Amino acid sequence: MTDYVTDLDQLKILAEQHRDDFEVLSYMLDFHVEVSDEDIDSWVDQIAEPIVAGIDCTQCANCCSSLGVYLTEDDAKRLASGIDVSLDSIITTYIDREAAQKEDEWGKFKTSPCVFLKNKLCTVYEYRPNSCRTYPVMTPDFRWTIDEIREGAEYCPIIFNVLLTLYKRINDLY
Ligand code: SF4
Ligand code: SF4
Repeated sequence: MTDYVTDLDQLKILAEQHRDDFEVLSYMLDFHVEVSDEDIDSWVDQIAEPIVAGIDCTQCANCCSSLGVYLTEDDAKRLASGIDVSLDSIITTYIDREAAQKEDEWGKFKTSPCVFLKNKLCTVYEYRPNSCRTYPVMTPDFRWTIDEIREGAEYCPIIFNVLLTLYKRINDLY
């Protein structure tokens, strides 16, 4: 077992404590232009690999519990077909189109925690939206998306541990 931070109460406290460090990390990545975007992405991927492998998302599910979930029309169609209901029914029952459109998205689940989450497991796993499949995506373009990514540090143990590890490594280098 690893010593990654996975306790969600502790995560909130530590993410707050490291908020300034992660802002410094963002600044450092901006400042060190001699390091390419590709190299930064490669560091992040290398750091993330054991962290992703070492954290059991089925014991966490905090993204499904706490974050808004956005869908494309294709996501909604796949979900409708997967659970054998009409697209109209999926939209009416589960999706807030109006709220999503204000954020330039096609759709967003109405409820958070997600209505499809049961006992920390996704009941529509095979048909889940693409945003669920890719979360917490950090590359490519980590340097240019870190400010968005670090907002997830208080919710997602993977994000927090990756940012903390990267921050420590870059601090050691410079
Ligand atoms: S659809 Fe599944 S993976 Fe996506 S938020 Fe809901 S429970 Fe989580
Ligand atoms: S992606 Fe992050 S927030 Fe979601 S279940 Fe895995 S560790 Fe938890």
